Amino acid sequence: MTGIPLSQPDITEQDIQAVVDTMRSGRLSIGPKQSRFEEMIAQRTNRSRGVAVNSGTSALHLILRALDIGPGDEVITTPFSFIASANCILYVGAKPVFVDIDPSSMNMDPAKVEAAITSKTKAILGVEVFGDPTHMDRLAQIAGAHEIPLIEDACEALGGMYKNRPVGSFGRAAVFGFYPNKQITTGEGGMIVTDDDKLADICVSLRNQGREDMSLHDPGCDSQTGSWLMHTRLGYNYRLSEINCALGISQMDRLDQILDTRRNVAEMYMRRLMGFKDLIMPNLHEIEQRSWFVFVVRLSDLYGQTERDRIVQGLRRHDIGAANYFPCIHLQPFYKQRFGYDRGMLPIAETVSQRTIALPFYNRMEETHVELAVHTLSVMLQREQLLISKEA
Ligand SMILES: *Cc1c(COP(=O)(O)O)cnc(C)c1O
Repeated sequence: MTGIPLSQPDITEQDIQAVVDTMRSGRLSIGPKQSRFEEMIAQRTNRSRGVAVNSGTSALHLILRALDIGPGDEVITTPFSFIASANCILYVGAKPVFVDIDPSSMNMDPAKVEAAITSKTKAILGVEVFGDPTHMDRLAQIAGAHEIPLIEDACEALGGMYKNRPVGSFGRAAVFGFYPNKQITTGEGGMIVTDDDKLADICVSLRNQGREDMSLHDPGCDSQTGSWLMHTRLGYNYRLSEINCALGISQMDRLDQILDTRRNVAEMYMRRLMGFKDLIMPNLHEIEQRSWFVFVVRLSDLYGQTERDRIVQGLRRHDIGAANYFPCIHLQPFYKQRFGYDRGMLPIAETVSQRTIALPFYNRMEETHVELAVHTLSVMLQREQLLISKEA
């Protein structure tokens, strides 16, 4: 056996055919597949516009640029996330202001967000960590009351529903990512969604080298006007190819089915892990439809980081994929160095992040594989219990 991976993409023959057809079509960038993929994500999130880009990180970068956030500005965000959600704030020269989390959802605590707002705060960047949308409605209210935009980093939560609204519909804009471990993949890719045409138009320009005339689809056809080589702002090449978009469309066609299979795997885990008194299960409170990104359990406070790390390593030694999602961003070496952050600054995020374990999780994960992962985890847990009782 080659083991059970932490995650793996789900690519069908139909996905492959869509990619091959696009490669034969002669149009490999800025074409109908991009428009269709944008429409599909916008529609799914109840938004009027979608802007496809080449990664979730690029999407975050562009939305901060489009909101004109820069040096001297502060953006409030979570320390418990994938690093891109804070790095994008550094890309534009602004300062990330980290606030502590609520231990149940592992998302920012709204009261602490409100308390962190200053005259320099130019946005709140909320993350639906592991697909949990909890508090996004509250963050939207707080942002609204202070007349600052909420940016929703929904990279881990595509297709979820919360308080009768789709994930991605809460902020001034939301972003998604399509790396191979996400709910749907384009290989690499990302998307901005918004109802704000001006913001969307700026993102469209920024992803395409700062070009202004977006009716242009073919660089060969505008040599008279020369506008293909007219750049009105500092842009980037963050375009997503037609090949990637074709894969995205094909994956989106079966998003509901994908979410169902993932929910089924999560339920298999829950059923088997429910009785483990030392494990805290993922939060499901008030979430109509959780879009499962990863399956993360948390060790009770009886255990510390040493025990958690040994369990993760033990799982891996048995060829069971496992990870410490997520180490706190403020404690990453270059954040510590640059801002002088240290342990103790955000105690809840730190306590949580020392005890989380991501287990193997992907579409159509077989029941026997879930069983094996759970069994191995239980052996590792028993070993740690024994060690702890010896120390006591
Ligand atoms: C995946 C992810 C991103 C974007 O990642 P890319 O690899 O750049 O597509 C951003 N934020 C969060 C929270 C993520 O999980």
